[in-house]
Amino acid sequence: MITTPIAMPLTAMDRCDRCGAQAKVRVVLAAGELLFCGHHTRKHSEKLAELSADMRWESRP
Ligand SMILES: [Zn+2]
Repeated sequence: MITTPIAMPLTAMDRCDRCGAQAKVRVVLAAGELLFCGHHTRKHSEKLAELSADMRWESRP
């Protein structure tokens, strides 16, 4: 069973998994969650769309 974690807002402590910049987006995949900055969200958006990722902008760019 998958238990859905309580959505926590991203903070300045949350970092992009690719470059370490402040995370702006939480990407929810079947395998888990990724955090991306705006730059990497755009860079990977096509791939994430293919994976049917649930992308949640936690703060406005
Ligand atoms: Zn990044």
